[in-house]
Amino acid sequence: MIRVHIWAEDQPLPFAKEQMRKIYPTGIEGAIADFLNKQPDMMITTAVMSDAKQGLSKRTLKQTDVLIFWSHKHWRELSDEAVDCVWQRVLEGMGLIVLHSAHASKIFARLMGTRTQSLRWREADERQRYWILAPGHPITYGLTGEYFEVPMDETYVEYFEIPQPQEQIFITSTQGGEIFRSGNCWTRGAGRIFYFQAGHETYPVYYQREVQLVITNAVRWAFIEKKVAEWPDWAREAEPIDATK
Ligand code: ZN
Repeated sequence: MIRVHIWAEDQPLPFAKEQMRKIYPTGIEGAIADFLNKQPDMMITTAVMSDAKQGLSKRTLKQTDVLIFWSHKHWRELSDEAVDCVWQRVLEGMGLIVLHSAHASKIFARLMGTRTQSLRWREADERQRYWILAPGHPITYGLTGEYFEVPMDETYVEYFEIPQPQEQIFITSTQGGEIFRSGNCWTRGAGRIFYFQAGHETYPVYYQREVQLVITNAVRWAFIEKKVAEWPDWAREAEPIDATK
């Protein structure tokens, strides 16, 4: 079983609060949990920032194989202790799926080695066209055609301050003629990281079939059964294997 922990900041801005609660009555974490709970190989837990230990205690993270992470304006309030712990777990082999505005989060910065992971944005009810750049990749399994579209979401635009992705899965073309690297993979230590653009809180993006498929596939891709602590002991003085030569 893949133990998936879905974490969301869940502190919408005052003007977005009513709309978000209407679209996501059980929160973004609840909407994602609903479709992942249907997967027979996944065990789902959810948490929000107002939970004890901000929903990211050492104990919780130790029991997490893949963390799904959604944050927005309150990213600065996540404790350094929680960030350290997530960072350590990723290096040990925990998968991390960074969604939408979590591009600005402390943990993404720490893992990417960048300053702010800034990008340009506008909220203009625009269609997002996700071009599939890796048709054979596990994250695009089940998607057909050259692209899929999210009818309305926040628009993100380059330049996006990230290290060059190790695998480029999607690039989005916007209605305004720009592009954005919207589905990106990296490894850090033993862990796999996937950034996915979709999911501003005032659009029902996480109910869309293709978006659910990508997140579900990404969980399976990011899952590594054997974490570093379970590897054979290799960090020691190297004895020659063949002493006769
Ligand atoms: Zn947004």
